Amino acid sequence: MGEVVFSSSGDLTRAKSAERQSRVATFLTTAAEGLFATLFPSDCRLCGAPLIRISRVPVCEQCLDQVRPITQAVCELCGGCLPGPYTLAGEDGSVRCGLCRRLEPPFERVAAYGSYDSGLRELIHLLKYEGMRPVANVLGRMLGEVTADVAPCFEGSNVLVVPVPLHSTKFRQRGFNQAELIVRAALKHPPQHHQFEIAGGVLQRWRFTESQTGLSRHQRQANIRGAFKVVDPERVLGREVLLVDDVFTTGTTVSECARILRRAGAVRVVVATVARVLKLEAAGAFVDEDAEREPLAMAARV
Ligand SMILES: [Zn+2]
Ligand SMILES: [Zn+2]
Repeated sequence: MGEVVFSSSGDLTRAKSAERQSRVATFLTTAAEGLFATLFPSDCRLCGAPLIRISRVPVCEQCLDQVRPITQAVCELCGGCLPGPYTLAGEDGSVRCGLCRRLEPPFERVAAYGSYDSGLRELIHLLKYEGMRPVANVLGRMLGEVTADVAPCFEGSNVLVVPVPLHSTKFRQRGFNQAELIVRAALKHPPQHHQFEIAGGVLQRWRFTESQTGLSRHQRQANIRGAFKVVDPERVLGREVLLVDDVFTTGTTVSECARILRRAGAVRVVVATVARVLKLEAAGAFVDEDAEREPLAMAARV
């Protein structure tokens, strides 16, 4: 009996002690966060609310939660907007936009996680123009979902992953290629890593391109022609390629990359991006992501 009392009182003591420890832990966490907020006063870079959690990404949970995948019906081939809700399926049963009906694009499919607006656009800019590399992990999780989504497009088990390259001058200025950082984060977690081989150097951007803003589709194609080259054709020959970029704006860049990769012998090219411009009529109002120059407002903040 004595033992039982002793034991239960011991349990009680331990329980009380555990409770106290957990209260202390909560207090310490709260105190640390308070201290963090005092020492490093920081607001969410998207909504301006004060940040109360310690994180390497200066964006609040609510803003991150608001970045959602695309849910509207899109072209099954290029991922773009469909002309209307009653678009009929083609002969093969696929739902294609007008452009993909008329022209056979050099890629097999384009898939993106979310629409390039509000939160997602800001997150990409934090990485690209403000050099906040931890944001690549957040974007990588999104790209990981896209990668899993397009994985059935590949027949083989060893896919070459090619991030859209930056010109060497741009690479030196920025210090990293955002597409490569994002895809490395995306493929960090199994079970995908065994299927994809990241090959950063096979494709090179060796010519600057002028701003694409305001150009017609044909002018954009002419503008970008010859900007990329495959420097390691043996690695591309006969391979299936996953081409990745942070954002799909007009598609001129990825189309040209896909064309060059196919010409070098890639059997198929599938494109995965984190974001995609869906409102094509508004594309002119967007910052020209295909241009080599940084938007002035962003460049000033670097
Ligand atoms: Zn926020
Ligand atoms: Zn399409």
